[in-house]
Amino acid sequence: MDGARILLVEDDPGISAGLARALTHEGYDVVVTSSGQDAIRTVQEGPDEPDVVLLDLGLPDMDGLDVIRRIRRDAMTPIVILSARFAEREKVEALDRGADDFVTKPFGLEELHARLRVVLRRGAGPGGDADGRVVVGPLAFDARRHEVRVGEEAVDLTPREFELLRVLLGEQGRIVTKGKLLRAVWGQAYQGEDSYVYVHVSQLRHKLAAADRTGALRDLIVTEPGIGYRVRAPEPAAAAIEDKT
Ligand code: CA
Repeated sequence: MDGARILLVEDDPGISAGLARALTHEGYDVVVTSSGQDAIRTVQEGPDEPDVVLLDLGLPDMDGLDVIRRIRRDAMTPIVILSARFAEREKVEALDRGADDFVTKPFGLEELHARLRVVLRRGAGPGGDADGRVVVGPLAFDARRHEVRVGEEAVDLTPREFELLRVLLGEQGRIVTKGKLLRAVWGQAYQGEDSYVYVHVSQLRHKLAAADRTGALRDLIVTEPGIGYRVRAPEPAAAAIEDKT
């Protein structure tokens, strides 16, 4: 991840200069452009193909949503959106078109760094081991055995709740839109039935909380208002080691 190449697509010179400086200082290799066309060309043709694209949606030459669509036609390069506050619809549309995550302006560098870390790690392969077992604190999710435990206690989930948790854990640290959850758990025909998601996520949280004697899972499933949910990102290994010394 060190030295990962970021393509920063931003037409506000103040923002792009500050961000490029800060990200370079963090050890990233930053390439800046203010043009959507240029961004698409760079991803498709190189020579500086980025590891991640940091994309402002309001560009002078083309709609940022079209930039996402064009990049996604033939590249899986992670895309993180730089979005304005109160632009929920825009964020949802960007995510549905294949963006991987977003940060809302004004954002802290720490938040951006966390998002970048998750999407870059994602490129290295899905979470969980070969048997589909995912462990987050006291939570152990076992897809093969169809079993969820919190500590020693088995948690009795309905098939929908189990699927919801499976999808969310598979995207650990990343936003999952309500639409994506509906498609994955209920199917295409349920598009727009957001209340299904609210109700089942609420039940899922309730059951996990009831089994969670330590409170360690209290903030496991975070709500992103108007957009969807995010399961807390796994702790970076380095930080876990530091904690023990
Ligand atoms: Ca702009």
